[in-house]
Amino acid sequence: HETGTAHDTAEQLSRRIDTSRAHPARVYDAFLGGKDHYPADSEAAKAALAANPRGYLDVRHNRAFLRRAVGQLAAEAGIRQFLDVGTGLPTQENVHQIAQRTAPESRVVYVDNDPVVLVHARVLLDSGPAGRTDYVDADLRDPATILREAARTLDFDRPVGLVLVAILHFVEDEEAYAAVRELLAALPSGSHLVLSHLTADRNPERITKVAETYQKRGLTFVLRPEAKIRKFLTDNGLEMIEPGLVPVHRWRPDHRPDVERESAADGGAGGAEGAG
Ligand code: SAH
Repeated sequence: HETGTAHDTAEQLSRRIDTSRAHPARVYDAFLGGKDHYPADSEAAKAALAANPRGYLDVRHNRAFLRRAVGQLAAEAGIRQFLDVGTGLPTQENVHQIAQRTAPESRVVYVDNDPVVLVHARVLLDSGPAGRTDYVDADLRDPATILREAARTLDFDRPVGLVLVAILHFVEDEEAYAAVRELLAALPSGSHLVLSHLTADRNPERITKVAETYQKRGLTFVLRPEAKIRKFLTDNGLEMIEPGLVPVHRWRPDHRPDVERESAADGGAGGAEGAG
């Protein structure tokens, strides 16, 4: 795994930035119309859009799902601590902003393995005065490090909202299931998992081609069918909250005007939230 220590300085992180290859966070940023990506990432995003021209909608809907799910945990489930693994580049409405709008004292630990994300996150993701945020340079495939570093900020005797949104498809089966199991095992009852995952179930031809555009660029991309996505929840004894595992734009839609209402996104990412 290409991560350094969790406390690398911005300079050490910058030295690890490889702009010659596409990286998932920066490709995602290119999809969202952000500015924190390089030519290799725009090129990869263009290739993915050539395979699935409406894929940018899936990305927007995924981000809107993240906002609704975290907002729901803060407002309705009373969750005050979040562990967001696979943070992505800062954009509008990041997890701590969503949570701290409901409860200013909310604590959030962001985890990512992309040095570009960490450099930007440290600068941009300032917490409100009452809450706290921290940034951990770690890989999902190394849950022990994530838990150890997160414990500096989060209290593992109180419920935690674990956020694994649009990350698990970048991790091979064995490591993905083991990581989710180990992370959930460390959380007390009353904790929640927010999960989304790209699937080709609804549009096999185009979404398989999207995955291939990543794979051709040396990135892992595992398209899991719904039954295998569901396993992340059922294997760990989580109960699904209504409406369960559904395309992200159908998970408690709130039809905010900033998200395209047009819901015919073809990627059919699955959104789910489980409680345990
Ligand atoms: N969760 C955000 C961003 C998704 S993009 C959202 O849904 O809006 C996926 C993120 O996962 C990227 O930032 C990428 O760098 C990160 N990522 C991919 N594989 C990872 C791994 N093995 N460990 C940690 N982070 C990873």
